[in-house]
Amino acid sequence: MFQKILIANRGEIACRVIRTARRLGIATVAVFSEADAQALHVREADEAHPIGPAPAAQSYLRGDAILEVARRTGAQAIHPGYGFLSENADFADACAAAGIAFIGPGPAAIRAMGSKAESKRLMVAAGVPTVPGYHGAAQEEALLAAEAARIGFPVLIKASAGGGGKGMRPVLTAEAFAEELEGARREARSAFGDDRVLLEKYLQRPRHVEVQVFGDAQGRVVHLHTRDCSVQRRHQKVLEEAPAPGLPEALRERLHEAAIAAARAVGYVNAGTVEFIVEGDEAYFLEMNTRLQVEHPVTEAVTGLDLVEWQLRIAAGQAIPTAWPPPARGHAVEVRLYAEDPAQNFQPSAGRLDRLILPETARVDAGVAEGDAVTAFYDPMIAKIVGTGADRDAALAALEGALRRTAVDGPKTNLVFLRRLVAHPALRGAELDTGFIAAHAADLLGPPEPAPPAALARAAAPPAPGPSVWERRDSWRLQGEAERVALLDDAGVERRITLHASPRGTRFDDGTIPPGGIGTDAVLEGGTLWLLPALDPYRPAGDEASKESRLSAPIPGRVVRLLVTVGDAVKKGQLLAVLEAMKTEIRIAAPRDGVIEHLGCAEGDSIEEGTEVATLKA
Ligand code: ADP
Repeated sequence: MFQKILIANRGEIACRVIRTARRLGIATVAVFSEADAQALHVREADEAHPIGPAPAAQSYLRGDAILEVARRTGAQAIHPGYGFLSENADFADACAAAGIAFIGPGPAAIRAMGSKAESKRLMVAAGVPTVPGYHGAAQEEALLAAEAARIGFPVLIKASAGGGGKGMRPVLTAEAFAEELEGARREARSAFGDDRVLLEKYLQRPRHVEVQVFGDAQGRVVHLHTRDCSVQRRHQKVLEEAPAPGLPEALRERLHEAAIAAARAVGYVNAGTVEFIVEGDEAYFLEMNTRLQVEHPVTEAVTGLDLVEWQLRIAAGQAIPTAWPPPARGHAVEVRLYAEDPAQNFQPSAGRLDRLILPETARVDAGVAEGDAVTAFYDPMIAKIVGTGADRDAALAALEGALRRTAVDGPKTNLVFLRRLVAHPALRGAELDTGFIAAHAADLLGPPEPAPPAALARAAAPPAPGPSVWERRDSWRLQGEAERVALLDDAGVERRITLHASPRGTRFDDGTIPPGGIGTDAVLEGGTLWLLPALDPYRPAGDEASKESRLSAPIPGRVVRLLVTVGDAVKKGQLLAVLEAMKTEIRIAAPRDGVIEHLGCAEGDSIEEGTEVATLKA
């Protein structure tokens, strides 16, 4: 086994690999970009080394810089995680040339499965069913249009080099084909630098079912059961479960066999996933991901295995145990908690996690902690939360409870959406297909429910009084009545609660007695955690105005120029400060006319994201 490994990744997957390595007594080396100097994976690893500026192309995608750290630190193997270099055959080659084990399949298997068109040709030859389509090299528009007509509309245009749902466009009619083709090519060119496309029959509401596989260097390939990942937004997964519910036994068997055949066809070693779309009794090969998947924890939950441990064992030359596959026991469901805005088509959101409360009743894989920031540079996932149980209902109930005990204050998140999703009768009924979110959007989207009065009361009430009147903070008087107003931030909505304190105690406007405050902004009420931070009643009126007045650093950086001092009158658009961050200059200008009331930094300071640069008053 290895004594020291390097993790060429960040966030939750880096933290997750570090955890397993530590349990196995393996030392860990983290790498980090300039934006991640304080990140959780850096704090958790035994040692950590910088590899470049924030943009991934200049850091986490720099195979040479990462290999250099591996050589310098004596790491014997590199775990690529998912994304970044995990499916980069050239990087796997470079690792081999440097005598460092790449924890994943061989470069040839990565190459063969790397192109959607190429992998589909391979699968046809191996007898694995694929969606009817066109995967040819010829790309003339007239030929593609003729192929689309042969396949029959609706068809799906996909980028050959695609991933993450980019460059994917359904075309419903022949008339729309030319325009959609142009759009798909444009997207593919900018995302992958390659505008080749393939065509597929567009299945209207299929299920996404995948099979976890493992191969060893001795030539054995086994499956580790199915997962269903049909619940997707923008063709990307948000909820995954194992095993895939409600599959006829014969179909399940066929999927296992097809997945093993696919892996064998490329001499697959280590962990991989073979993805299918399923409609009725038909299953079609979609692609093979030659790495660990984000959703692997649900497979771990039902098999009792640590898949990262087995990735390491197999990369070190061990054989798959003869008793595999272990039976799948119970059920597991994972959701991805993202910093994103469901109301804005799930657009990523960024910002500091002022509060992050994660449940203790479920497995949580997090890449950030309270106080950390979600930046615009990387995937906005905050954490994966996994519910498990003896059966699907129990797993979903556990997950629902866990999500009720989760709270985030900072960037926009999909937490409320996830709670509704997990509780939805159609999800409980396993009515799964890739159109699920669109079909139930009316139930799943929309503003959060207001906090119940009891939660507001508890958050607003002063902390339970101590024995001495001198230490009381509840406006206690010897005589008469004091009025105190508590302003609470209820998911962006301001709530005003008035308390009356008198020698007889404290009561609300309606005469009810507060329940004895707990002195915290997080209140558990009716089984749900409500985050109700107090707002400063004396802050300038209007939230927007106050936000606009305080100019803060959008990302961590250095103040290279500060052009104003306190008391200066400034005009809208006037340059106030210049930050240098990630080798680029960020110019901070006045959003409106005003006077500089306060400065939060000095020239030459290195400041964190969210630090005040200057505050304006009208
Ligand atoms: P990517 O590599 O970009 O993630 P995939 O080929 O894995 O793309 O497909 C992602 C998702 O797109 C699938 O899970 C499924 O929801 C949908 N999809 C892919 N191919 C088809 C198809 N032929 N018909 C209908 N939906 C499809």
